[in-house]
Amino acid sequence: MPSANNSWDAIIIGGGPAGCNAAMVLARCHRKVLLIDEGKQRNILSHGMHNYLTRDGMLPPDFLEITHQELDKYGVTRLKTRSECARILPDKRFEVEVPGAETHTCRRLLLATGVTDNVPDVPGMKELWGCSVFHCPFCDGWECSGKRIGLYAQRHNGFGMALALLPFTKALTLFTDGSHYLRRAQREELNHHGIRVVTRRITHMVTEGEKLTAVALNTGEEIACEYMFVNHGYKTNNELALALGVKCTAKGAALVNRHQQCNIFGLYVAGDAALDAHFVSIAAAQGARAGIAIHESLLKEDNRAALQLNRALSE
Ligand SMILES: Cc1cc2nc3c(=O)[nH]c(=O)nc-3n(C[C@H](O)[C@H](O)[C@H](O)COP(=O)(O)OP(=O)(O)OC[C@H]3O[C@@H](n4cnc5c(N)ncnc54)[C@H](O)[C@@H]3O)c2cc1C
Repeated sequence: MPSANNSWDAIIIGGGPAGCNAAMVLARCHRKVLLIDEGKQRNILSHGMHNYLTRDGMLPPDFLEITHQELDKYGVTRLKTRSECARILPDKRFEVEVPGAETHTCRRLLLATGVTDNVPDVPGMKELWGCSVFHCPFCDGWECSGKRIGLYAQRHNGFGMALALLPFTKALTLFTDGSHYLRRAQREELNHHGIRVVTRRITHMVTEGEKLTAVALNTGEEIACEYMFVNHGYKTNNELALALGVKCTAKGAALVNRHQQCNIFGLYVAGDAALDAHFVSIAAAQGARAGIAIHESLLKEDNRAALQLNRALSE
């Protein structure tokens, strides 16, 4: 049973850049905000964050630590846990459950739950995720410049991503790990750019400490490789959104308007879980946008209620 203490202007589920920036905007407008986050930010294992002005190369845990200090300053309440259940109440508020049978209610709900990357199930690859194995040339391509780069693309066509990696190296190998999806014209184009294609099965990543040194094939051959990009997509963390009735694309991204509001009144989605490019700066910007929209819609509601009360008292 929610108490007055468990009643919030806004609850935000997901404490990455999207959720935290929304919390910042709302708390600075004196809104009572609860931020629920289980702490598995997508880039948490990254060796350094890029494309975010003034924070180039910063480790994500350091970024989060500063973020939390700033949120604490403005009185955001943070719960480090996972929320498995949220529902819409008859008066259009939301009820959110957290472990321990505790429930919280809010007037507006923001889901900023991000996505989870599909890291291929190749021995050694998960351990290298974020330090030698990456998914995004924009995020990590520069750091691999001029090095021997591999591209692992088994279930998806690696052709486009191979071309996207060309600005970073002349030593690129596309590993299909036993798949034969490339068309002849594509093979010719890759060959023209000097991109080697290896279709043999991979047995494991060869490493020295946290560094990738080679890719081992089932023939016993090892192909020298310092960095690996993968093209295996992601799963959107949208279980709560779907359960609440949020309309999503076939890939699971929530459909939102330019204020990050979805098809349900009072419910917003921001960051990687909504449809857009997956960048820290874009997630943070979407969070800010949701924060503004939530505050403004609460303001309208508060002003309307105050006006009605005034009228009732003066009658
Ligand atoms: C290896 C790697 C490197 C990257 N490098 C860069 C880079 O250099 N520059 C860049 O711009 N982008 C980079 N990205 C992308 C970047 O991480 C994302 O775009 C960004 O984190 C999205 O922010 P978000 O707030 O939407 O989601 P996230 O940061 O993923 O945060 C979502 C949070 O919600 C929590 N959550 C989910 N469901 C629940 C629930 N039910 N209850 C409670 N909590 C929940 C998760 O645990 C997580 O903490 C990188 C990604 C990866 C994988």
